[in-house]
Amino acid sequence: MGRGPWCSWAHCCRDFVSSAHACLPPLRLCLHALAHLATALPGAAAAVTPTTARRYVGRFAPSPTGPMHLGSVVAALASWLDARAASAQGLSAQWLVRIEDLDTQRCSAQAAQTILQQLHGLGLVPDAPVQWQSQRQRHYEQALQTLQAQGRAYPCSCTRKDIAAAQQALGGDRQRFQTLVYPGTCRHRPAHDGPVRTWRFLVQPGCPAHGPGSALVHWQDRRLGPQQQDVAQAVGDFALLRGDGMWSYQMGCVVDDGLQGVTHIVRGEDLADNTARQILLQQALGHPRPSYLHVPLARDARGEKLSKGNHAPSIDANAPLTTLRQAAQVLGLPPGAGGQQTSVSDALAHWTALWAQRYPL
Ligand SMILES: [Zn+2]
Repeated sequence: MGRGPWCSWAHCCRDFVSSAHACLPPLRLCLHALAHLATALPGAAAAVTPTTARRYVGRFAPSPTGPMHLGSVVAALASWLDARAASAQGLSAQWLVRIEDLDTQRCSAQAAQTILQQLHGLGLVPDAPVQWQSQRQRHYEQALQTLQAQGRAYPCSCTRKDIAAAQQALGGDRQRFQTLVYPGTCRHRPAHDGPVRTWRFLVQPGCPAHGPGSALVHWQDRRLGPQQQDVAQAVGDFALLRGDGMWSYQMGCVVDDGLQGVTHIVRGEDLADNTARQILLQQALGHPRPSYLHVPLARDARGEKLSKGNHAPSIDANAPLTTLRQAAQVLGLPPGAGGQQTSVSDALAHWTALWAQRYPL
């Protein structure tokens, strides 16, 4: 392995495949480019997506910003059913619960306890002790060090105003979800002195062998089908750690999924947009790619997704079966199929059987 003559970025082309025929540059490709080509070939997805073998690890990862509403029950039920269906198919399956409480401003220990009680009341009990992200700082620090050593993480001192000005200078005002696409101002060195406001992930290693759209990520979703996103275009170099010490959602999620050995991610489709960023981070950290299934969202009468932001009510602790039936309906499962399920455990067993047909592994 050596560095390609046209690749100025050491962190990209350290994976360069050396050719004995250095006089034939068109035949020389770095491993990233080879991986990209592999995913682009028809039928290659199965080879790139890790097979489940006999092991399945799924998880529900709520942020404890309040009690569970129907929307969070849908996500919990879907991931639980997927794990139980895997188990019914002979896989060694585990369903984990991870409390994503990195945002200390918005999260509370009390809300986390409420969520755990609510899950228990719904019969959705994790197979291993609950993990708390607030207790896992050292793992995120290690991951950041790994990325720094690869040249894939860099300090950024831009304020929101700086980013807006840089965008304007580039002739655009690219935004998405109210977040400005980061134009890479601090990539080579902070252009201005100031405190480190953000550690960012270098999305695009800058290797010409990737060609245009080099941060284009392809993946297969079990419900949504083939997906793709050009992370450089859509997001830019995204945040790993904020200057105030708060780790980003992407960092916590990818590091923990990797270290917990999560093989199957089942979550609401509002989170599908994070997948490409998470895949890039997984690749950089050397974690295998899990399988993805993004499920429908619970919506209110106006079609808006239920969330704490729009005051979705907490679920009724006294009516677990009613709550589960509502969640099942969102997932396309007949809420009272047969009309015979009178207990939570019967209903869950019934839906587990249906789930395997609806969302085969
Ligand atoms: Zn910056």
